[in-house]
Amino acid sequence: MSHALHLQTSNDLLRFDAAHLLHPYSSMTNPLPNQLVSSANGVELHLSDGRILIDGMSSWWSAVHGYQNPVLNQAVINQLGKMSHVMFGGLTHEPAIALAQKLLDICPDGLSKVFFSDSGSVAVEVAMKMAIQYWQAIGKNDKCKLVSLRRGYHGDTFAAMSVCDPVTGMHGLFGTSLHKQFFADAPTCRFGDTWDPSDIASLRKVLETHGATIAALILEPIVQGAGGMVFYSVEYLREARTLCDEFDVLMIADEIATGFGRTGKLFACEHAGISPDILCVGKALTGGYMTLAATLTTDKVTTGISHNGGVFMHGPTFMANPLACAVACASIDLLLSNEWQQSVRRIESQLLEELGPCRNLDQVADVRVLGAIGVVELKDPVNMATIQPAFVNEGVWIRPFGKLVYVMPPYIIDIAQLTQLTQAIYRVSKGIVPS
Ligand code: PMP
Repeated sequence: MSHALHLQTSNDLLRFDAAHLLHPYSSMTNPLPNQLVSSANGVELHLSDGRILIDGMSSWWSAVHGYQNPVLNQAVINQLGKMSHVMFGGLTHEPAIALAQKLLDICPDGLSKVFFSDSGSVAVEVAMKMAIQYWQAIGKNDKCKLVSLRRGYHGDTFAAMSVCDPVTGMHGLFGTSLHKQFFADAPTCRFGDTWDPSDIASLRKVLETHGATIAALILEPIVQGAGGMVFYSVEYLREARTLCDEFDVLMIADEIATGFGRTGKLFACEHAGISPDILCVGKALTGGYMTLAATLTTDKVTTGISHNGGVFMHGPTFMANPLACAVACASIDLLLSNEWQQSVRRIESQLLEELGPCRNLDQVADVRVLGAIGVVELKDPVNMATIQPAFVNEGVWIRPFGKLVYVMPPYIIDIAQLTQLTQAIYRVSKGIVPS
């Protein structure tokens, strides 16, 4: 039977969605209800029933300019008139070249080559492959493992899962089917705290013991995101870079969440003044318009891989999609012309001031803010079935996970809209009845 004929009302659509569409991290048979979004504009999500929600999530870190930005819309339209996609094997195009130029201009020093892919997880897979192929090509075949940090998160594909924290990284379930990697303790020294050199001891130990078999360290610089939303010390990142050099291990910086200004620097590595050997970006790369990611690396890695005629073994069908590259170019231009740093600083000070009172709530364990990221850590895990509708009733789109209620709004959010988010967090957190 054709369902399409019957898809008339919002309720019909939602019923079909609940019966047939699978959503992220959801039950396949008994999912919680989803909200039906009919359009989005600025920082507003417009629901089909007429309600408007202020977006606190930037569609998972990506929509930094908000929705329906006229400049970004036009960039897609212009590119659509030329070509929406061509294969990247044997062909190239101006949007990809222009985007690579822009990325190399703004990224940390030393990176000189760009590999485009279609999502953050794939960018991480590509980074891992680059690291392993590098050591293999220069005759160090034993260096094929990764070391990662506890509480880290790097994506949902299989190699990416193998470097996520086995417990908080959401993939404990897959246990023995994942590659065995090494894990160092999560940093405990927080961003801005006095540096305690013992914090890096665990990573040093892993490298001392297993460095000969380790191709690369992978970490999220400064902000450990989906594994715990923790901001750690710049000294840790600096020391980690030094240890990588000492033990002949490449450093992969996963800036998929932090890239493009979110932490107050264009890239979080800048807080520590370090450059990785391999950098992954995604999410906000296109201002949240299209799916696109990139893995950047150095001449050292690329000449290593190819010095004996070796080729890099990856090539996704939608690599360097021209529509995505065109909108990414426009998004970076917009970011750089928009005094993004001032916007992020303004959001940071407002979040600090307005989330501060949450510290006094019995339900709250910690409040932390960095750049345009605000986190309220609760004492107990939230009940999504009740907390999600509570936020919607407050007119905001905030999607907690575990014990974490957090926001990373579009940089264009105004003062009143941000206050709506912070007040909603305060009221909803206060209303949680301890279990
Ligand atoms: N790395 C980090 C740090 C991320 O936050 C994410 C996405 N949450 C990923 C990788 C995976 O990106 P994607 O969802 O685009 O595959």
